[in-house]
Amino acid sequence: MQSRIYHGDIEPNDIARALVAYFHRGNFRVQQIGKNEKLNVQIATHQMATSGGQTAIGIAIEKVEDGISIQVGQQAWIGVAASLGKTAITLMTALKNPFRLLERLDDLAQDIESLRLSEEIWRVIEEAVRRAGASLELSERMRRIVCEYCNTANPIGEPRCIACGAPLGSVQPDTCDYCGFVVNKGEINCPYCGKPLQ
Ligand SMILES: [Zn+2]
Ligand SMILES: [Zn+2]
Repeated sequence: MQSRIYHGDIEPNDIARALVAYFHRGNFRVQQIGKNEKLNVQIATHQMATSGGQTAIGIAIEKVEDGISIQVGQQAWIGVAASLGKTAITLMTALKNPFRLLERLDDLAQDIESLRLSEEIWRVIEEAVRRAGASLELSERMRRIVCEYCNTANPIGEPRCIACGAPLGSVQPDTCDYCGFVVNKGEINCPYCGKPLQ
């Protein structure tokens, strides 16, 4: 499963709309489950459906405090679950916690088609993120540390409060370049994806 957090003024629907628009053509099947704060987009190729796979690439998108969190993984096409009589449960899970349906993509690393498709999906996502002016970096709003004594918003990196001079401490937020997770200064590896931090 690949996860990223994008910070800024962006909504899950911005990403869903871009994915549906892009993949609603030719060899692809695309569907959206849920809307607004939490949603799930599924994309499959017709080969994936007919080769006994019945699988799809699932994109779970959720609103977080400062933007959106996205996870891409493999999951069963919801329509398939329907034919197995599991619609209600699967749909409910998809709506309540879209992330729970996802499985790690690399477990199916032999499935080249899925991997290629997931790359294409990330490309479409990144494009939509850029268009919305969001990024893996902290938004301006989060780039402030509020002084616990006087409530003044201070720019990141400021050792002392610009208003009252109180020390702001070593806990200054930053994000992982790779996945967008908010990390504290002084951490060596990202606690989310494990990549070394700058
Ligand atoms: Zn202060
Ligand atoms: Zn990371």
